[in-house]
Amino acid sequence: MTTAIGVVVTEHIVAGKLEDMRLAGETVRYPEKDDAMDVLTAVPGSELVDLLAGQIVSVASKGPVDAIGVAVPGVVRHGVVEESPNLTQLKGMRLADDLARVLSALGVNAPVHIANDADAIAAGVAATRGQLNKLTRVWTIGNGIGYGRWPYVEGVWEGGHITITLDPKERFCGCGGVGHLEGIMGYRAMRMRFLDLEPEEVFAQAKKGDQRCREFVELWHRALAAGTASFIHLAGPGRFYFTGHNVGFLDLPMLRRHLETMVKMSPLLSYSLEILPNDDATALIGAGVSAIRALAS
Ligand SMILES: [Zn+2]
Repeated sequence: MTTAIGVVVTEHIVAGKLEDMRLAGETVRYPEKDDAMDVLTAVPGSELVDLLAGQIVSVASKGPVDAIGVAVPGVVRHGVVEESPNLTQLKGMRLADDLARVLSALGVNAPVHIANDADAIAAGVAATRGQLNKLTRVWTIGNGIGYGRWPYVEGVWEGGHITITLDPKERFCGCGGVGHLEGIMGYRAMRMRFLDLEPEEVFAQAKKGDQRCREFVELWHRALAAGTASFIHLAGPGRFYFTGHNVGFLDLPMLRRHLETMVKMSPLLSYSLEILPNDDATALIGAGVSAIRALAS
């Protein structure tokens, strides 16, 4: 039996123990009760490492642990968080090494693997559906737009910043780049575009027939279709999943209608699209599974 600890860092931290890739026992959460959006953004990096270690120790409960997986938002390579726009204190941290050192002092000795949060969701979906040998891709729709894939492949994979329009007026992306997917779909970007309406109101008014809002909702879906079509043309058809805080905005038939105008080559038509509930468990399982798989490589 393999034992892993999976941890997810979003606006909060959730940790749990996995036995043979299944959740065993209760998960723990910080903060324990529901939280303000930015409770973790004010915590310095070193304190965040201590917090993570405390959560991991509490779920490890003395038994042996083979690997520890932590999913964080941002660009992660070789245990280093190279970029993390929503948890800026993580940028540049050697999170795997730092966390392993603190854990070792607390009596937990196991390799620590850091994964991008969207990659962890893709791994979690693949594991829970028994398709670890298949290509699984995930879009996370929130303040930013994340792209994750399983199996893990070395690279940057900032799919949310793929260029989907040549219109020079499309400049709302959080990264500052022109024409990016996140510049149309991201929550912050939508607020900048509609200074008089919240994104929820834009989607609600589109349903009621408001012309300007309807046009935007079409653009939002066309943008996601364009990003998805690009990845189909690069890595092939297969399974695409959609999740995240704002996945409720997504109208799958509308997305499919736009995607069908963009993907025409017959070997590429066997893709599937599915909405996933926005939960922490999938990413937690994926973080643990990624850590176990990383042991073998
Ligand atoms: Zn961007």
